[in-house]
Amino acid sequence: KHMKSKLGIIGMGVMGKSLALNFVDNGIGLSVFNRTVPGKEEKVATSFAEQNKDFPLLKGFDDMDEFLESLETPKKILLMIPAGEAVDAQLDQLSEHLTGGDIVIDGGNSFFEESNRRVETMRAKGIHFMPMGVSGGEEGARKGPSLMPSGNQEAFSQVEPFLQKIAAKDKNGDACMTYVGPDGSGHFIKMVHNSIEYGEMQAIAEAVHLLRFGLKLSPPEISRILRSWVNDDLKSYLLEITADIYQAKEGDNFLVDLILDAAGQKGTGGWSLSTALKHHVPYSPLAEAVVARQLSSRKSERTELSKIFGHRFRAFGEDKVLLMERIKNAYALCRIINHETGYSLMKEVSDANNWNLNFSEISRIWTNGCIIRSSLMEQLIQVFDETDSLFKHKKTVSKIKELKTDLTFIVGLGLQHEFAIPVMSSAANYLFGRIIEDSSANILQAQRDYFGAHQYQRKDDPSRNYHHTDWLFLK
Ligand code: NAP
Repeated sequence: KHMKSKLGIIGMGVMGKSLALNFVDNGIGLSVFNRTVPGKEEKVATSFAEQNKDFPLLKGFDDMDEFLESLETPKKILLMIPAGEAVDAQLDQLSEHLTGGDIVIDGGNSFFEESNRRVETMRAKGIHFMPMGVSGGEEGARKGPSLMPSGNQEAFSQVEPFLQKIAAKDKNGDACMTYVGPDGSGHFIKMVHNSIEYGEMQAIAEAVHLLRFGLKLSPPEISRILRSWVNDDLKSYLLEITADIYQAKEGDNFLVDLILDAAGQKGTGGWSLSTALKHHVPYSPLAEAVVARQLSSRKSERTELSKIFGHRFRAFGEDKVLLMERIKNAYALCRIINHETGYSLMKEVSDANNWNLNFSEISRIWTNGCIIRSSLMEQLIQVFDETDSLFKHKKTVSKIKELKTDLTFIVGLGLQHEFAIPVMSSAANYLFGRIIEDSSANILQAQRDYFGAHQYQRKDDPSRNYHHTDWLFLK
């Protein structure tokens, strides 16, 4: 009874509780703590332990001193609390109690630049700090999440066996967990993971809208089509849950039709976009997924404007069977481009920070436990073993060439019929933006030189000197 716990968790929210049961299920002695807010009666941590009495390895504490006292030295503490100020406040409080060599892991969705800073400030105090991305939601946390630990590597080797046990397993039985790299790199890749997740969710939503209102298919028909895509070569967790969603009924209604079309977001998508801007990485397809959620949240304005404009979707006249195939292919290419965009950002930021991230290994730990697990992710393990860019990988290039006309066709058709398909259309623009040799930017340079004497480089000057023209004199 007085055996010290191997590990402690602070924060008994959805994620903290699920991870706690996962640890004790795996034979790891665990103490849990949740703050008690004045005026709030509930003692969250002790009542959670009480409710789970059949797990003798689980101990709940409402008192911080007792919680800390219950941990083995060096103390190993996992924070599962909201990102931002809560983490700083909690670290300040812990710093007063912890001693050199103790380990704190932040398993929340913290912004990686804040994690970089915290690694430094905690290092100065002699405390080992490990930012860690956690994906898989409630179910993943309970049954096996994908884990992205980073920061202090010495500390990592001490907690590695525990993380190994609770993580999801890939198809070879290896843990979907790896030491990602220094600083906040684990939170960084989790942020990009979520950004790809935003893009994938939106791309699926767009495809489904085209099937529903362009092809006039019923929800059960759409559910069947999505399952056939999964069984062809587009297996993914997000497609599978969407197929489930399209089957759910409440009385005579499809549940999805009762859900208000105003999407929430907690930050990771937007952070990815601002990081991409900061690092000059083109990010349009995934940026559009963030913007789509913003637009969605303006429900009452959209209702008003749709009346002013008399907006309605127009059904497609083309052959249904053929269009179904083309929508599938458009989505398939969009998926590839979404991933290419996210991985480009990871490459750029990894280089800028000398993190030396291993993209094949990152793909491997994303093949199970996490939200963006898919057959494409399985393929990316191999792809990033061979190259550092999806657009330079031979087999992927032939795939893109094969699917390209279906994406542009569907984007054109969708827009003509007044559908909003921002991620699909942006994916097409991004692709051409990346692969066109002679772009339209020479015109921009001429304009900049004309009105602002900003100068331009010349195609016929291999040393790329800057030139200026007196445009008014030429007139
Ligand atoms: P949650 O259900 O809202 O729980 C948050 C927990 O943190 C609660 O126990 C809360 O305690 C505690 N807390 C809040 N403010 C605090 C503070 N200032 N100091 C100490 N404790 C505080 O959140 P969650 O879904 O478990 O998520 C936890 C973290 O994991 C977040 O960073 C989230 O972004 C991340 N995450 C979530 C998911 C997911 O699918 N939900 C997936 C991956 C990562 P009180 O009850 O006293 O407020």
